[in-house]
Amino acid sequence: MSKIIHLMSESIKAEAMRLGFNACGIARVSRVDDATAAAFDRWIGEGRHAGMDYMARHGDARYHPDHVLPGCRTIVSLAMNYYPAHRMADDQYQFAYYAYGRDYHDVMKARIRELAKNIFDSSEYSDFSDYSEYSESSPSKELKKNYYRVAVDSAPLLERYWALQAGLGWIGRNHNLIIPHKGSFFVLGELLLTAEVDCYDSPIESRCGTCRRCIDACPTCALTDSGVDAQRCLSYLTIEHRGPFSPEQATLIRQQPTPYYIYGCDRCQRACPHNSFAQPNETAEFQPSQALLAMTPKDWCQLTREKYTELFRGSPVKRAKYEGLMRNIETITKE
Ligand code: SF4
Ligand code: SF4
Repeated sequence: MSKIIHLMSESIKAEAMRLGFNACGIARVSRVDDATAAAFDRWIGEGRHAGMDYMARHGDARYHPDHVLPGCRTIVSLAMNYYPAHRMADDQYQFAYYAYGRDYHDVMKARIRELAKNIFDSSEYSDFSDYSEYSESSPSKELKKNYYRVAVDSAPLLERYWALQAGLGWIGRNHNLIIPHKGSFFVLGELLLTAEVDCYDSPIESRCGTCRRCIDACPTCALTDSGVDAQRCLSYLTIEHRGPFSPEQATLIRQQPTPYYIYGCDRCQRACPHNSFAQPNETAEFQPSQALLAMTPKDWCQLTREKYTELFRGSPVKRAKYEGLMRNIETITKE
């Protein structure tokens, strides 16, 4: 076995903040607790993941990061603010805030790789030059090496659970991670390490109390005390659902109050009082273009494939594809 490397948690956090992450916490790895695993299994068993088959694919492997990075001992959980300074006007069609700018997967992955490189390149850790990035295709004889792995929705990990274990915040009734005094408009990513750190963080208690504003704000009753039912959630329907909508799904899309969301939905986050702390992000890649902010409902109805490509180059909106976005718009406009 390779020797266990011990890193300084404060150095990792300081470097993360220097690179522009807005929060960083560090969790010691063990199997996901039984209550969380049982709740996730129940959610899948009840079909509330809708058409997101990838959520059900990894079975028990999802509950232990060792399946993502063999020998994983530590997860560094990282958050980046995407709350926009300039928002779509309330009389225009809406996009979820995270979709305003460039795809966060690309932005975060690049920054987390830079974090890993800087940690192991720093003079403090100059002995650790054998550290390298793990990939599924790494030859098995290499498994004795010291590895790291970067994940941004790209591995079967319960990322909000690990953010909770890393002391970043709590998981609210709206199922988002809420960072104290910062809110929930954050994207999450992870740096998995076979190394240990000198000091691990601990989960913090929920501060939702008796509040239910997010549940009350959900226009389709997708969000209840028993969790989110993706089958009714506008975020799932407008982004993840493939193909035409059934009459029932179209009714859910249309029953939202104005302003209409045509990509994603932020209502259960916008209703959350902890988001009164949200500060505009300063990440250049997350800023919306003037062309996007200037779009009117008429422009959306007349959106050509060429204009779509121009507006959404490098954007997460490409996930729904042109056909998906036009389906959403047509569902809103055709009664
Ligand atoms: S994203 Fe929208 S539809 Fe989905 S649970 Fe939240 S408020 Fe409801
Ligand atoms: S709206 Fe209220 S219940 Fe919902 S996540 Fe925020 S604090 Fe928690």
